[in-house]
Amino acid sequence: MERYTEYHVGVAVLKDKTKMKEAMSRFAELEERDTAKRPIKEEDSGIRYTDSYRCRNCGKGFTGIGIASFCYHCGQRFDWR
Ligand SMILES: [Zn+2]
Repeated sequence: MERYTEYHVGVAVLKDKTKMKEAMSRFAELEERDTAKRPIKEEDSGIRYTDSYRCRNCGKGFTGIGIASFCYHCGQRFDWR
């Protein structure tokens, strides 16, 4: 993926000013992913010993509560409170 920004002494600099819109949308996407979201609990579909959840961001499933801080699939941060 082409980088829109580069770091100069801890400050992000936009390399090409015409890419402002793309850079902002990418930033918003990252910020969104880093905002903890509660996983969606799957409805029981039979006898299970562990609960299954779905990621709110990518919709992919995983099993077990409070194990993962981030989605294995897309990196979405989870809120288990
Ligand atoms: Zn995900």
